[in-house]
Amino acid sequence: TLHVVPSFARLGEENAFAVLARATELQRQGKDIINLGIGQPDFPTPDHIVEAAVKALRDGHHGYTPANGILPLREAVAADLYKRFQVEVSPEAVMIVPGGKVTMFMAILMFGEPGAEILYPDPGFPIYRSMIEYTGATPVPVPIREENGFAFSAEETLSLITPKTRLLIINSPANPTGGVTPKAEVDKLVAGLADFPDVAVMSDEIYDQMLYDGEKHVCLLSYPEIRDRLILLNGWSKTYAMTGWRLGFSVWPKPLYENARKLAVNSHSCVNAPAQWAGLAALTGPQDAVHMMLAEFDRRRKAVVKGLNALPNVSCAVPKGAFYAFPNVSQTGWKAKKLASALLEEAGVATIGGPDFGVHGEGYIRLSYANSLENIERALVRMGDFLTSAK
Ligand code: PLP
Repeated sequence: TLHVVPSFARLGEENAFAVLARATELQRQGKDIINLGIGQPDFPTPDHIVEAAVKALRDGHHGYTPANGILPLREAVAADLYKRFQVEVSPEAVMIVPGGKVTMFMAILMFGEPGAEILYPDPGFPIYRSMIEYTGATPVPVPIREENGFAFSAEETLSLITPKTRLLIINSPANPTGGVTPKAEVDKLVAGLADFPDVAVMSDEIYDQMLYDGEKHVCLLSYPEIRDRLILLNGWSKTYAMTGWRLGFSVWPKPLYENARKLAVNSHSCVNAPAQWAGLAALTGPQDAVHMMLAEFDRRRKAVVKGLNALPNVSCAVPKGAFYAFPNVSQTGWKAKKLASALLEEAGVATIGGPDFGVHGEGYIRLSYANSLENIERALVRMGDFLTSAK
């Protein structure tokens, strides 16, 4: 018998990948499946970014880079954060990592151990909880409520902090709800954190450019009072349609940076060099493609919300960020996961059940509108037919 350590049995999954596998299987059987399950832009990476990677390969960037990333890229990240949020960040605080996920992996490894409590949004990105459980720490869900616009409630979040709390994870704009936490609420949360100076904060801002209706992003780096314990998670995956490149960045407070760098040295060594040069082109080149994608997401968002609200017994709040709709299906008579599964098997529409994002996701399903307007319209017709006829 092989004796794998028991913590591996506690590692979770992203059910989105299982849904994708099932959708692909059904397609192989000849079924017409519309995929509103997976959370990745349906656009290709903009040409000039691809060209920069090709050029990097031709120019001989084939070797290891520093574990924390090439300096020009770390400088460009710092400059971009200054340009967008007027926050001063030293390139020495920036680390280039293989995707946004790696920042959360590192941060949770740094703070999770038996006896420690880590607060995370529920519903939220499933890997937070999975990683917390892996470390043996106690996952403490922060409920994200529809009646609160799917925003964090400062009061409720602060009320969950105990002497055992080591890390608070926040995420806005949010997966899976599309919720955006308003500045006034972030102000309140940060003010309240003054009472808990030993609690680190990881702010997952991977959707920071995906905002609608004139919303402005609140970057947690803009609060000097928590800079010494704030970890920023961000990256290229969503903004530049680069999910498969595996490129992200984090900003670390000084005492944590060396830990993160050593974790990189002990695991991936560095991000592949051409991806880093491509990331540089993404930040310093034209942003037209980003604006084009965002305008298209906005059109789809409006169509999906309108269509969902026209379905029998379904109501959908207007998501202000990311590219997800999170309709309330609790009045349909279906449990959310059963409904998601029936929609896939019987109506050919892939969505994700809310409970895959946490216990507070019951009663909801997640639709990613990273699909063509035409497919979204077809999916809504199918969902309407299904809900009207199925019992
Ligand atoms: N954080 C959130 C909230 C996400 O939704 C995702 C991807 O779905 C990630 C992080 C991970 O992004 P990456 O693909 O860059 O690892």
